[in-house]
Amino acid sequence: RSRAQSNHSRSGLLCEIKSSIRNEPFSDHYSLIPGKELGRGKFAVVRKCVERSTGREYAAKFMRKRRKGQDCRTEIIHEIAVLELAASCQRVVNLHEVYELPIFTPGSDAAGGEIFNQCVAERDEAFKEEDVKRLLRQILEGIAFLHKNNVVHLDLKPQNILLTRNEPLGDIKIVDFGLSRMVSNNQEIREIMGTPEYVAPEVLNYEPISTATDMWSIGVLAYVMLTGISPFLGDDKQETFLNISQINISYAEEELERLDKAAIHFIKSLLIKEPQDRATAEECLKHQWLQMQEKNSAEELMKQKSASTSIPEPVSAEISSQQRKE
Ligand code: ADP
Ligand code: MG
Repeated sequence: RSRAQSNHSRSGLLCEIKSSIRNEPFSDHYSLIPGKELGRGKFAVVRKCVERSTGREYAAKFMRKRRKGQDCRTEIIHEIAVLELAASCQRVVNLHEVYELPIFTPGSDAAGGEIFNQCVAERDEAFKEEDVKRLLRQILEGIAFLHKNNVVHLDLKPQNILLTRNEPLGDIKIVDFGLSRMVSNNQEIREIMGTPEYVAPEVLNYEPISTATDMWSIGVLAYVMLTGISPFLGDDKQETFLNISQINISYAEEELERLDKAAIHFIKSLLIKEPQDRATAEECLKHQWLQMQEKNSAEELMKQKSASTSIPEPVSAEISSQQRKE
């Protein structure tokens, strides 16, 4: 085991990357599309750009090297390493190239292709139960892959799940490995992090973090995708944390009544206080609610139509590709 872990430090951060970090000017190779901001997080802005040599469109994630006066190179290297580790996983965004730029270039304000948009939409624009099932399966496939490789994401929320397209609804891509960690048997990770509404009780109680921590967030995600309601959200952070630690959640919402009873069972198998009692990603994929898919993945449907054209997909850190190298 110890040899297999040589590439990650005590803190669960990977520290070796295969990509070479390019130092020549980013603008020699890419042009940014003006006003095309795809999204932003706490320390990053993601903008659409075009590779000059190929004309291909990519998403460029610009990450601040210094955050709150601290050098964050280690965290950035870790995020790159996780994307490399998941390069063969279709459900994780693809990494194309890495550049190191002298300055941080912020963009303008605009919305991205996050599932967040549909989660907060009015009912006729919101996801249908069938959509949620298909997208959740994909999210679970990606998470199962990561968990098999001992990576926990730790920041699963609608803002970090992207869609390859909206109309018709495409496939999902998991982004943002900024808070992710390597977990293994002989080390414990306890940290306060993530987004209040999606954070598991063990994180709040400063108890060990595991792959089950992501499974809690998937439970919250499923609830939000189905109802548009954030189940633990309180008026402030304190109230949200209290709701989570008491598992103060309502299964009596009108939005839930319209659903297959198996959907509630699925959510309940995840929103359980004890991490070891929660369903795993593999178990979730076998859950009755997620069976009987009459629709294939959007990708499969597209492949049937034309074998040659590939779907544009959203991508990440620092530059990630539209096309997957198959
Ligand atoms: P942070 O670590 O700051 O949260 P993210 O990786 O989550 O950064 O990126 C911020 C936002 O940018 C995401 O919530 C998403 O809306 C958008 N985004 C990230 N990666 C991509 C991508 N590859 N393609 C399109 N949009 C993206
Ligand atoms: Mg994010």
